[in-house]
Amino acid sequence: AKESGRNTFALYKTAMQAVSDRRLEMEKALHHATEFKLFELYYQPQINDKEGVIGAEALIRWKDKDKGFISPAEFIPIAEEIGLIVDIGHWVLNEALSQVAAWLKSGEWDLSWRMSINVSPIQFQQANFLPMLQNQLEKHDVPACCVDLEITENMLLSDLSSCLEKMNAIKALGAHLSIDDFGTGYSSLKYLKLLPVDRLKIDQSFVRDLLTDKSDEAIVRAVIAMAKVLGMSVIAEGVETLEHYNRLREIDCFYYQGYYFGHPVPAKEFIDLFVHDSST
Ligand code: C2E
Ligand code: CA
Ligand code: CA
Ligand code: CA
Repeated sequence: AKESGRNTFALYKTAMQAVSDRRLEMEKALHHATEFKLFELYYQPQINDKEGVIGAEALIRWKDKDKGFISPAEFIPIAEEIGLIVDIGHWVLNEALSQVAAWLKSGEWDLSWRMSINVSPIQFQQANFLPMLQNQLEKHDVPACCVDLEITENMLLSDLSSCLEKMNAIKALGAHLSIDDFGTGYSSLKYLKLLPVDRLKIDQSFVRDLLTDKSDEAIVRAVIAMAKVLGMSVIAEGVETLEHYNRLREIDCFYYQGYYFGHPVPAKEFIDLFVHDSST
């Protein structure tokens, strides 16, 4: 028994070693990718019943030469932990704005459309976030109204007053703000009414089970009703099927994003699929 206990421990140690090796490898590769800008942005359409495409969400992609595509759900939290998210977030903003600038020039981007850009809490909390944003807008000559920043509720946990100040300054620039993954965080209704936010993105976990789970449907309805009172709009994410879309339409959610309308794709495909082909 003593012997097998020792073996089990040895196995455990080996397994733990493998986990930390992968993690270290990942950190090294991420440093490299950040330094040499080995990322790409994909774009997923955002849809309105009446107008069709109303914008896109920029989603980062990282294809490692050995490991292939690594999900942002895996590497973004690591980048946040080791501080690389600030540089990565800066790259994302620069890349997304340069894409909007190019599309505005070629006439493929409508001035009323919004480019949604994910902003990590750590990036948002940087003292120079606002001047950096302003700088980027000027550098690319993109009107602020074409930009929508997606932030999460948990950001508000840190320092509400400085957060609010920054959010108001962003609104004053003319840019838009959305709360991402709404319903999964900790924001209270008390805070919500204080926030200068244009839009709530209802988390895809609620949308997924909308058709089968009565309480999820009730939550979606409640969020839509509440947003209306607060003068915000609601976009449903994770809309995967016609059935989801129909149900959401019935309950007066007017904005949608999800595989049913289109997957995230590279810039050129975005235009070919969702802009030039205006049948959708
Ligand atoms: P998110 O911001 O909630 O983005 C939505 C995620 O849902 C994306 O995953 C998107 O590809 C996926 N998705 C879209 N439609 C559907 C659908 O109909 N069904 C399902 N099951 N999924 C759908 P992705 O691109 O893998 O990104 C995962 C997360 O990584 C994002 O979640 C966001 O938190 C983070 N992320 C992605 N790009 C960036 C970025 O540029 N900066 C930061 N800070 N985070 C990012
Ligand atoms: Ca998002
Ligand atoms: Ca989301
Ligand atoms: Ca998410």
